[in-house]
Amino acid sequence: MKIIVAESSGFCVGVKRAVETAENAAIALGKVYCYGKIIHNATVVSMLEKKGIVFKDSIDDIPPDSHVIIRSHGVGKDVLDALSAKKCTVIDCTCVFVKKIHDIVADYYSKGYEIIIIGSPHHAEVVGINGWCDGKAQIIEDASQLVLNADKSYCVVVQTTFDVQRFQQFVDFIKKKAKILVIHNTICYTTQHRQSEALELAGVCDAMIIIGDRQSNNSLKLYELCRTVCVNTRLISTADELTADDAENIETLGITAGASTPKELIEEVIKFYECNDRQGPQQQS
Ligand code: SF4
Repeated sequence: MKIIVAESSGFCVGVKRAVETAENAAIALGKVYCYGKIIHNATVVSMLEKKGIVFKDSIDDIPPDSHVIIRSHGVGKDVLDALSAKKCTVIDCTCVFVKKIHDIVADYYSKGYEIIIIGSPHHAEVVGINGWCDGKAQIIEDASQLVLNADKSYCVVVQTTFDVQRFQQFVDFIKKKAKILVIHNTICYTTQHRQSEALELAGVCDAMIIIGDRQSNNSLKLYELCRTVCVNTRLISTADELTADDAENIETLGITAGASTPKELIEEVIKFYECNDRQGPQQQS
């Protein structure tokens, strides 16, 4: 079996920084709170819990005067204000690409533009972005959901991990409908690179494995994309989900992973296929 591992698989810069900052904060400060799960990966969350990070989904559950990590997905202004009112010290790990979206939204909202966010309405990053325009954005996943008024000005941003091709379809659609329109392609470059590499890889492999948590938006997107060109595509969280039969009848296996998948989990999957390959290894990159 030939195994090809995508170069872009695993932690992106934003997630790497957030996880390292959380680890260092736990070492330096002992008990540190984190608003929401730091990334969509149960293995990493459990590792950080053991080091002293306490994850809370509600500000109400965070005591006053605490140190609080804001994860790479970022939060709305309302959350920062609530933490400030509690005199908490914020350790801000908002990814720079997400922060840029907050700034765009706050700027255009203050100028009277209506904000449109293309993305998943319940995803933490999107909820956070909406928090920079008083929660008044139109959040759409499907172009048919869009409501436009010819008299209004619109500013469009997109979730950093959104599918690049689908975003372009949205843009083409919105351009025909709105008169005053500012469009910002805020899909982050690591997502674009990861998606295009995965798609290319899926096109030359007869089986494709995406390693990532099922709660991870970007892992799900990779899975959906690869399925369009390689029907034998699977999304798994860890190598434990694989059986020896899964390594049967594969000539070329492609492996990639979402932005919140640590390299240890990727290495375990590679090792699994190497150990269960009855034809013997050919080449790995
Ligand atoms: Fe930042 Fe992109 Fe990673 Fe999101 S996927 S944390 S925007 S680098």
